[in-house]
Amino acid sequence: MRISEQILAECHAHGVEAYPEETCGFIVGNLDDAESLETVYPMRNIMNEMHREDPEQFPRTGRDGYMIDPREHMKLERSLKKAGKQIKVIYHSHPDVGAYFSEKDKEDALWNGNARYPGITFLVCATNKGKPGDAILADFNANEGDFDITEIPANTSEESYGLLGGTFGVSGILPTLDFIHEWKNGQREVEYGYFRFVPPKQVKNFQQQLAVRHQARHALAFSSGRAALLELLSYLQDSRPLTKLNLASSATFITDALPSLEMSALHFNLNELPAAENFSAKEGDLILIAPEDLQNFVSENAEWLEKFKRLRVPVIVYEEAASGSWPADVQLAWPNGLTYWITGFDLPESHDLPSGIAGGVILSNNDRQMAELSELRKRRGAILSARNAALFCEKFAGNTEGTKMNSGNSSGVATEPGCVHEEAVTKQLCAWENASSGFLFPSGMAAIMAVLTLLQKREKPRLIVIGLLYSETYSLLMDSGRSSTCEAIFIGLHELERLAEVLTKDTAMVITETVTNPLCGVPDLERIGKLANAQGVPFVVDNTLASPANCQPIDWGADYVIHSTTKYLSGTNDHAGGAVLVKSPENAKALKKFQQNWGLGISPLEAEVLRKRMHDFEERMQRFNKNSLAIAHFLEAHSAVDRVYYACSSSDVSSSPAPKLLSGNGGVVSFVLKNNTEDNLRRFYDGEFISILKAPTLGSNQTLVCPYPLLTHYHDSDEDLLEIELPRYLIRIAAGSENNIEPIIADLNSSLARTTQ
Ligand code: PLP
Repeated sequence: MRISEQILAECHAHGVEAYPEETCGFIVGNLDDAESLETVYPMRNIMNEMHREDPEQFPRTGRDGYMIDPREHMKLERSLKKAGKQIKVIYHSHPDVGAYFSEKDKEDALWNGNARYPGITFLVCATNKGKPGDAILADFNANEGDFDITEIPANTSEESYGLLGGTFGVSGILPTLDFIHEWKNGQREVEYGYFRFVPPKQVKNFQQQLAVRHQARHALAFSSGRAALLELLSYLQDSRPLTKLNLASSATFITDALPSLEMSALHFNLNELPAAENFSAKEGDLILIAPEDLQNFVSENAEWLEKFKRLRVPVIVYEEAASGSWPADVQLAWPNGLTYWITGFDLPESHDLPSGIAGGVILSNNDRQMAELSELRKRRGAILSARNAALFCEKFAGNTEGTKMNSGNSSGVATEPGCVHEEAVTKQLCAWENASSGFLFPSGMAAIMAVLTLLQKREKPRLIVIGLLYSETYSLLMDSGRSSTCEAIFIGLHELERLAEVLTKDTAMVITETVTNPLCGVPDLERIGKLANAQGVPFVVDNTLASPANCQPIDWGADYVIHSTTKYLSGTNDHAGGAVLVKSPENAKALKKFQQNWGLGISPLEAEVLRKRMHDFEERMQRFNKNSLAIAHFLEAHSAVDRVYYACSSSDVSSSPAPKLLSGNGGVVSFVLKNNTEDNLRRFYDGEFISILKAPTLGSNQTLVCPYPLLTHYHDSDEDLLEIELPRYLIRIAAGSENNIEPIIADLNSSLARTTQ
């Protein structure tokens, strides 16, 4: 039996989520196909309950044993029967003891020396210190009367650091401050990092394969061909302000997008090619062509293309792959004269693949431009899902076996189109946020970039930014603020009286975060909302840190609410995505069109994962709220701690709008040490944590710690940091949703004991 990377990753992710307890569940496939493995069904481990009721009969707890909830099991069996499906594998996790088939596992799997569940394979996934490890498969061998064991080594080359969240993990683990410094200073190549900054290995592989295949030096993958093209145009417009677009394409998405790129185009016809000498690099000419048959066009017009190389006028060719097409047969060597070659991909829908698995790539030999574009992609977030990239790679290798995707849903009903998951997620988010419509994006930053680009207009050059926002949002806004046609005005949370003055009708938007990252400031949404609404200025709120469980910004006047679904909503560090919830149907219509034009849809595979993870979101969020408060109160009382920052802080209850706006704290608590130096921070951070992981994300079900400003604001001078009131050696704790906070507090206690005061 071969278990695909995706299926194994899901089982591991479930193990990571339950860590330090064991978890369990089933893998289901088609009744009539012995090899088919389609869907992972996590089940409830009721071992703790059994132990509580009868410790003598059930001496083990969830820490070292599992028992699948029989009611959930029965319910699943009933729905599987109707759908022609069957349980093929029973899996469980082994926290911190390695992957092996224990005597207890054997005992449970046998009945009178024979298989208790004939034909069923057992999968054991090791979860080491909360990270996915090796796995084994155990199959009963009737001749031997014992189990055959197949080892599945951990799919990482983990050394001192690793990947958080399994095969499709979103974040690297950062073991020491020196590690972070070396990485920042370019002395260390990291294999794993936050998904937007260090592309996941599946995406890297895909890019590499494309570059080799097309004999190009660089390949950069995006969420779609459209996104690839428009991100390139946006980059060229910003870096070569004279850009004059000469366009030979009838694609309406390009002409629709031009106003938001502040570009216009001169059209020409591919059947009557203008003389290359009519164009000039000095004048900022740029050629964009989308021939119907690229291969033919390039070979028939090789001379014409060559001339552009001599003239140094950039030429882009664009192919938007029609649904189902795959350029596997295209064996085109890099055509001379071409600067950028952009292709879209779209896997054909099949019985086991939903429609909409898309992607796009920019190929080029331009070193500097591609490096700059890669930097921009980190910030603008139109990334390719690692899940899509894994499938594309398998397609390239001609291997489609074992890539059966999970198309079932948690009710056990079989194959559904990919959009069903997206619809279910957006419906739920709209219900929580009191929005009229919702849209999912490839990342939180892509969601922010979309709203920003949609709302920014030449005739509305002003942006108002309230509070210190997430570093990448801040940089995106600063970039916009630097462009000649736009002016960003930054207002502190305690300077809201300035807002009425600067909020004019030429303001494109007011933007803030419900709880700011990482200082946990809470802006008075009601006050801002009233002023913005009165002027008819769109009010945009990033609600990621509060989450939909703790705040509904639309109730306070927000027009657009943004989430990074990479965080609390998914919780398992193995999903990347973003969401925008919109108050008015009219604004929703415009955003929908924008999203389609810019190719910024979420992968159906990510939507599916998100949907599954959201089923217990509200319950998890209660634990995030509770755990973060316990951590904050512990830190406040500790003599080595100087200041603690958290949203529902009791110290400024009279002046903070938090009690009015928030029903919970969220998970983030930041603090500074009394002896606020790098050496002291090193004493705290570099030592061993037992239950806390050192990673830069938040909203993870496991508690995380990171030296946030050292990671994200390292370019800033002391004066810059002073101006934004961000202490350089701030420590950010992203509390998890663990049931028991004691081991986390114990970790913090022993790490604080290492510091000096
Ligand atoms: N908004 C906030 C408040 C964040 O903290 C982040 C990421 O940390 C984002 C947006 C960006 O989300 P993503 O990383 O999914 O692109």
